[in-house]
Amino acid sequence: MTDPTTGRRWIDAAAELTPETRLFIDGDFQPARDGATFDSLSPRDGRLLCRVSSAGVADVDDAVRAASRAFDSGVWSRADRRERARVLTRLSDLMLENLDELALLESLDSGHPIGDARRVDVPQAARTMRWYAEAIDKIYDEVAPTAHSALALITREPLGVVGAVVPWNYPLIITAWKIAPSLAAGNSVVLKPAELTSLSALKLAQLAAEAGIPAGVFNVVPGLGPVAGQSLGRHPLVDKITFTGSPAVGRGFLTYSGESNGKQVALELGGKSAQVVLADTGDLAACAEAVAWGIFYNAGQTCHGGSRLIVDERVHDELVERVLGVGRSLILGDPLDEATQIGAIASERQLERVLGYTDIARTEGAVVHGGGRVRPDGLSDGYYVEPTVFDGVDNTSRIGQEEIFGPALAVTTVRGAAEAVRVANESPYGLAASVWTSDLTTAHTAARELRAGTVWVNTFDASDIVTPFGGFKDSGSGRDRSLHAFDAYTALKTTWINLGSSALPTD
Ligand code: NAD
Repeated sequence: MTDPTTGRRWIDAAAELTPETRLFIDGDFQPARDGATFDSLSPRDGRLLCRVSSAGVADVDDAVRAASRAFDSGVWSRADRRERARVLTRLSDLMLENLDELALLESLDSGHPIGDARRVDVPQAARTMRWYAEAIDKIYDEVAPTAHSALALITREPLGVVGAVVPWNYPLIITAWKIAPSLAAGNSVVLKPAELTSLSALKLAQLAAEAGIPAGVFNVVPGLGPVAGQSLGRHPLVDKITFTGSPAVGRGFLTYSGESNGKQVALELGGKSAQVVLADTGDLAACAEAVAWGIFYNAGQTCHGGSRLIVDERVHDELVERVLGVGRSLILGDPLDEATQIGAIASERQLERVLGYTDIARTEGAVVHGGGRVRPDGLSDGYYVEPTVFDGVDNTSRIGQEEIFGPALAVTTVRGAAEAVRVANESPYGLAASVWTSDLTTAHTAARELRAGTVWVNTFDASDIVTPFGGFKDSGSGRDRSLHAFDAYTALKTTWINLGSSALPTD
């Protein structure tokens, strides 16, 4: 890695990279038992990056049994909280020490711009690890207000084996949201990364071992969803599945649970988040900037991406013009170029899906701005779509209702706050929403009425590990982040002690 100011630096570094591709089970990297692999392609140029071991049913069974044995042994589950905190803090430090390699793996594998991966993905994942490490020895248990003759303790215990199944859009960040509180609370974890983006998870496994997480406590089983994901979901020794991904697959995990051991299932699913802009919005320039970044960041592959703009007709023309201007100003390019602001779509399949919505929008009568495939200079292939705005969208149409998961904004015009909020709520999803207004009462009332797990007022996508994140309705029921995440990875135990008359022995 030489000159940090040029794209060459990362292209050269990528050429030298030899990613770990094997499963990580019981403290060791190993191929799949049957030798199976799947191809990992880079969305940057469509080229084969490497072949990753593909966990089969037997491999997942090995990983779960290792996790279960480690849990029962108490090596981690009963370790002093401060020891778990020390190890997870060390892991956080190691992630930052390996920031460039982790960021490069993430960028190559997912198509994220390298600048975002270095500034956002890796630091946020490392911060998550540290935050839960620091929190775990500051949480107190409870004493229930029983009658005088009893002492009832309410304590939290780790659940056992947690299976974490994650998507490809923010591999490291979402993985950290799940494994940091699970591990801090004393659980063992089996992580199934998305098949499109397994490489940063395998590097994380190496760092976890180096940090001192004991063998079997953290396992990583890359593999195909219907095979590795499903066998984790059905395994009788898994106590909890924490899932982020699409609604259809998420519901499949409820079936796996029902047909196996009734394990807990927490679901973080998709979204079609509304950015509601009312006529009294003060600063339309700032609003347009936030609206555009709210959908175009990470090429729109964000579960809570603000993919619907519900705008009052009195500010529609100016706002849309400004949003288009911001979209045109963004630098779409090679993810390995540090100047790039919008990188690639994660796979060819996803690219085709996103492009297909441009045709649907035209059929549905929307006015289409952008929406075409592009190819950055110097790249012979790769999956890129220009920022797209569909104007004049009927909120009940497919463009208004379906999650596109690309850099595509659907604009629906309304009049007044009541209609705006009603239209925003006309969605099967409820992950996030924003409202722009200069009236305090309208802001609070709209925030109350919007059916979404997060509502932003006069901003979009402001967030931190300190607040919970998850959805209403089809967007799922689980909550990642904040101290509330410990609720998801612990079980409450009541210990009832009979004190009788509480009279002390006289002798
Ligand atoms: P996906 O549902 O296809 O895959 C998610 C994970 O499930 C992957 O690890 C995959 O291998 C696995 N999987 C796929 N099929 C499976 C099966 N039959 N059985 C068991 N496991 C299976 O989702 P994706 O395409 O990777 O990610 C995009 C989706 O994730 C979008 O809908 C997006 O909105 C959602 N998402 C939600 C959040 C959130 O926090 N709410 C965050 C990010 C992404």
